[in-house]
Amino acid sequence: MESNGQNTPVTQRVNDLISQAPVAISFLKGPDLVVESANPHILELWGCPGSVVGMPLSLALPCADKLPFVKLVQDVYENGHIHYGYETKVLLKRNERNNLFYFDFVYKPVKDACNTIIGVMVVATEVTKQVVARQLLEDAEERLRLAIEATGIGNWDLDLADNDLINSPRLAVIFGLDPEDKINEKQLREIIHPEDRHIALKAFKKAIKTGVYLYEARIVWADGSIHWIRTSGKVIYDDQHKPLRMLGTTNDITERRHDEIMKNDFIAMASHELKTPLTSLKAYTQILAAKAKKIDDQFFIGALEKCEKQINKMTRLIYGFLDMSKIESGKMQFNPQSFDINALITEVVADNLSMDEGHNLIFTGGEAIYINADKDKIIQVLNNLISNAVKYSTKGSTVTINSFIKGKNLKVSVKDQGIGLKLKDQQTIFQRFYRVDNESTRGSSGFGIGLYLSAEIIKLHHGKIGVESQEGKGSEFYFLLPLHVQ
Ligand code: ADP
Repeated sequence: MESNGQNTPVTQRVNDLISQAPVAISFLKGPDLVVESANPHILELWGCPGSVVGMPLSLALPCADKLPFVKLVQDVYENGHIHYGYETKVLLKRNERNNLFYFDFVYKPVKDACNTIIGVMVVATEVTKQVVARQLLEDAEERLRLAIEATGIGNWDLDLADNDLINSPRLAVIFGLDPEDKINEKQLREIIHPEDRHIALKAFKKAIKTGVYLYEARIVWADGSIHWIRTSGKVIYDDQHKPLRMLGTTNDITERRHDEIMKNDFIAMASHELKTPLTSLKAYTQILAAKAKKIDDQFFIGALEKCEKQINKMTRLIYGFLDMSKIESGKMQFNPQSFDINALITEVVADNLSMDEGHNLIFTGGEAIYINADKDKIIQVLNNLISNAVKYSTKGSTVTINSFIKGKNLKVSVKDQGIGLKLKDQQTIFQRFYRVDNESTRGSSGFGIGLYLSAEIIKLHHGKIGVESQEGKGSEFYFLLPLHVQ
């Protein structure tokens, strides 16, 4: 007698194992595929009562479409190969409701000691949860894809190991190609305007280092027309910080660009036209001021001083706009000369003090520090930082200016005790036309170009500009200039 030492026959043990197994399992014996054993899970799947044990499969199964299944198992029995079925749908009544469930099946021939097939083992594992989770994910992906397509933005996924690109149909359209086209990375690179390819390449190299990919460039369609694109993306790294993939979006900004060219042209033209009347206005004001002094008319002296201050403010604004259009068209000139930055700061501080008596401007200066830079443009930057410090802080507060050598650079900082800046504003403040819009700034005039111009000027000098700030406490704007500009 077979025994496990506890007097339980082996066949009984096998039957117990099968009936308690967490998967659906059955053994079908002989050419008639007699149900030798079947646990409750498989009986539920087949929709059979327990009494089918001992019956051939073809009689045991109640369903009308059982034939293909029986044929499949017969085939496994006769030919000895294993059959796998994945995510097979089965309609089951559970908790009083009919629902669809998903199962992975294996039909495996069972052989005796002489390698003769004696039956077929059927094992089914329920995978409903996994299938439903995947379907939900696929649905969400599809919804996201449709939403992205609706915005007109093209999206892409670049494998950095083999440069394999997966793109949305919209990306192909943006590059002037057929939406159905499978495009590759090299093809896209070649569509970028030859003069702008270095922009894309620089952005790519930077992205590999920083993880952030961003550039705007021109592209040339096959018909020769020129379009503008903006591409942004992020890099995915592995555990060793090796870049694996780059994901991102590209949109067509041609219309925005057109608008900006028109806006720039208008600003340049208007500023240019305003320069001449403003110059003569200033000249007449100065003549009148001289006459008022001669006759010692205090009212006229005071009023004309105010007029001159306003004219100077307007002149700075107009020159700011002219500079901006020069930067935009790449015509900003750079005339470096050697000068002492401390002497220059002393002059600029004195000028600002004469225009504003409500703040304490402190610059203790120090030994001469000679730099090679465009003096007028550095004056512009200093004026902007100091006038902002004054503009965005209350009367009576202190603005401290510092200059010192830091490594191979000159560092100049302007620190105020004013309204300060949120972190998000600190990151965008140097962009053109950016102004913080809140209760504290609403009363002060400006166009948001001063810091943009300052940043461009410092960039022109291969320097760096930045800000450290705490909202409500004050800001410290600074710039660094290399002491030996090439
Ligand atoms: P403008 O002052 O003419 O608007 P700027 O480019 O000089 O233009 O400054 C951009 C924005 O940065 C300002 O509108 C203001 O919101 C903010 N800002 C600049 N300097 C300071 C400062 N010292 N403290 C707080 N906010 C500042």
